[in-house]
Amino acid sequence: MSLIEINQGDITQLSVDAIVNAANSSLLGGGGVDGAIHRAAGPELLAECRELRGCATGEAKITKGYNLPAKWVIHTVGPVWKGGNYGEDELLASCYRHSLALAEQYQVKTIAFPAISTGVYNFPMERACKIAITEVKKFLLQTSSLEQVIFVCFGQTAFDLYSKTMQEVTET
Ligand code: ADP
Repeated sequence: MSLIEINQGDITQLSVDAIVNAANSSLLGGGGVDGAIHRAAGPELLAECRELRGCATGEAKITKGYNLPAKWVIHTVGPVWKGGNYGEDELLASCYRHSLALAEQYQVKTIAFPAISTGVYNFPMERACKIAITEVKKFLLQTSSLEQVIFVCFGQTAFDLYSKTMQEVTET
């Protein structure tokens, strides 16, 4: 079994220890993957999120998964794409690093990531995908209790891109 897996589908359906939410800084829910996670987890998730009092861009906070098959939800706030000269790359990398560090802290063995910032936050998918794979690979080179990291692609285009990039990053 490969440590990194690329999947296509709905992240809310996955039976993993933790799923990552591409949240906004209020942590009070939104559209896209955030909305889907809140709908599937139920109202208790929003109640716990309220107590967290928001999250800065590039950072991450953890809650329980409630009605989700996943035990935990790691909420991270990706950067809004503003053309690339506003630290977007570093902030996105930071989302992956902070999410993985939190996962490690909670002894998570299996974790699934959506393509953070690539929806309404408009981060170019190809660039985001390279950052995601690079950061996860870097993290897994350290001693880690993580056994599996899944990139969940929403649609065939994202899936093809992740598969191609995975190969490129491995070869370089
Ligand atoms: P952001 O605000 O960070 O851009 P979005 O939720 O708008 O977050 O989009 C992030 C990515 O999540 C997009 O690539 C979108 O296609 C994908 N996505 C949306 N719903 C789901 C879902 N249920 N499971 C997995 N990925 C999803």
